[in-house]
Amino acid sequence: MHLVLFRDWIRRIYATRDDELGCEEVFDAIASYVDMEIAGEPAAECFPRVLAHLKQCPHCSDIYLALRAAALLEDQELARELVELEHPDSH
Ligand SMILES: [Zn+2]
Repeated sequence: MHLVLFRDWIRRIYATRDDELGCEEVFDAIASYVDMEIAGEPAAECFPRVLAHLKQCPHCSDIYLALRAAALLEDQELARELVELEHPDSH
């Protein structure tokens, strides 16, 4: 086995050993995580274990990406509504 790959493999085992979060726990935290991220708050610093899980779990990172896309879209629509409210004559 290639040494770098081997070290990576060891690190992954140790990284997920003690304080590993399960998908269920991460799922509960993803919404808060996305909310913080959208608000420009340091989500990764507040939820380092969620970030660690997202990096190694394709299932949860899919959910995260979908939630973030939805939240960003909502944000954009809200921004558009605000613009329309500011300029009621523009349409
Ligand atoms: Zn997961």
